[in-house]
Amino acid sequence: MPPKADPFVQRRLLDVARIDQAVSAAEHRRKSLPELGLIATGTTRVDELRNAAVLAQTEIGDLDRAARKLDNEIDAVRARSKRDSDRLAAGTAQAKDLENMQHEIVSLARRQATLEDEALELMESREQADASMATIDRDLAAAKAELEAAEQRRDVAFTDIDDELRRVMAERKSLVDGMPAPLVALYEQIRARGRVAAAALNGSRCEACRMDLDRSALADIWAAGVEDVVRCTECGAILIRS
Ligand SMILES: [Zn+2]
Repeated sequence: MPPKADPFVQRRLLDVARIDQAVSAAEHRRKSLPELGLIATGTTRVDELRNAAVLAQTEIGDLDRAARKLDNEIDAVRARSKRDSDRLAAGTAQAKDLENMQHEIVSLARRQATLEDEALELMESREQADASMATIDRDLAAAKAELEAAEQRRDVAFTDIDDELRRVMAERKSLVDGMPAPLVALYEQIRARGRVAAAALNGSRCEACRMDLDRSALADIWAAGVEDVVRCTECGAILIRS
C-alpha cells in the first residue's frame, strides 16, 4: 500500500530533493578539490627532498671523516720526514743509514704530494656536496611552503563546504520534520538507490529522468487522488503534480 500525504506535504519533497542534490554536489566538490592532488604530489616531493637532504648530509659527514683521516696521514708523513731531516742535519747517522734516510725522505715527499692531491680532491667534492645541500635546502623550503599553502586553501574550502552542508542539512531537517514517516521512508528508499527521489511531473515528462510517461501511466496518475503518492514508471521517483 503506497503512502498517502497531503499534496502540500508532498510538494515539500521537491525542496528536499533539491537539497539532496546540493549535498551530493558539495560532497563531490569536497572529494575532488584540486588542492587534494596538489597536496598528494607536494607531500611526495617534500618526502623525496627530505631523503635527499639526509643522503647529502651523510655524504658531507663521510667526506669530512675522510678529510680528517687524510690530514692525520699527511701530518704523520711530515713528522717522519722532519725526523729524518733532523737526523741528517745532526750528522750523527751511520753512512749506511744515511743513504736509506735520503731514499726515505724522497719517497716521503712523493707520498705527501699524493696525499695532498687527494686532500684537494676531497675539498672539491666537499664544495660540490655543499652546493647540492644548499640546492636541496632551497627546494625543500619552497616545496614545504607550496604544500602548506595548498593545505591552507584546502582547509578554507573544507570549512566553506562543511558550513554549507550544515546549513542545508538543518534546512532539510526542518522540511522533513512532521512529514508522514511512510512518505519519508519511501523517499529515502528511492534515494538510497542513488537516484533523484522526488521530481515534478511537467506535462507528461518526469523531471527526475526527463522521460515522457506513456499514456496509460499518465491516465493512472491523473485518476489517482490528490493525497495518493504517485511515481514515475520509468525511474521510480515520487512525482509531484502541479
Ligand atoms: Zn522518472
